[in-house]
Amino acid sequence: MKQFLADLHIHTALSPCAAEDMTPPAIVQAALDSGLAMIAICDHNSAGNTAATQAAAGDRLCALAGMELTTAEEVHVLGLFPDAARASAAAAEVVATLPQADAAYYERFGPQQLMGADGRVLGFERRMLAVASTFELSAAIALIHRHDGVAVAAHVNRPSFSVVSQLGMFPPDAGFDAIEVFSAPGFPSRAAEFAGHGLAVLSSSDSHFLGDVGSACSVFEMRAPTFEELRLAMRGADGRAVRCA
Ligand SMILES: [Zn+2]
Ligand SMILES: [Zn+2]
Repeated sequence: MKQFLADLHIHTALSPCAAEDMTPPAIVQAALDSGLAMIAICDHNSAGNTAATQAAAGDRLCALAGMELTTAEEVHVLGLFPDAARASAAAAEVVATLPQADAAYYERFGPQQLMGADGRVLGFERRMLAVASTFELSAAIALIHRHDGVAVAAHVNRPSFSVVSQLGMFPPDAGFDAIEVFSAPGFPSRAAEFAGHGLAVLSSSDSHFLGDVGSACSVFEMRAPTFEELRLAMRGADGRAVRCA
């Protein structure tokens, strides 16, 4: 087994709350500069920039196609998928439940940029990515699994938009494949506490700005930086493992 550093929660400029310089090539370069072998692009309720980031990464970096889904309960759930096609298929079902953005929305949240591998803006997402979908938590996790993804409870140690903040506890039978803790200086990760649920615990940056890429990450012990190896490592299969860095 080898060790690989992974930051599996990064937003692009498609997310209404992310900086406009979060372009596919800039994110790839920031990840390489941070020594990461693996990242995951997880924009709010969309996978629209995942294929472009994979193209920007080429074979220099494993850029997983993901999405940060907002459930009807306003719980953030990460879906990580084997490829951009399956991430996009899952995201299409989510986006279809979101209202159309209007002028007031764009004024408040800014543009939602769809980009190419070179960072050029190719278009704009017209639905409100910043709001909750109609998928309840159980349906959201089922959707991710139906598209062959893994479901990660996002930033469970945060006081808002986490499964713990919204439901009051971590639901042991929800079907999550892993738990993510947000990690930043001075912010308690509570990783040991959440490890008690028997699931893999990841540490991620939830980057919305280039300078945050790789500021938190997980160490995967596995054969190669691929989605299938990551799935096995989350289960602890055959000596594989994952821990917070
Ligand atoms: Zn979130
Ligand atoms: Zn996020």
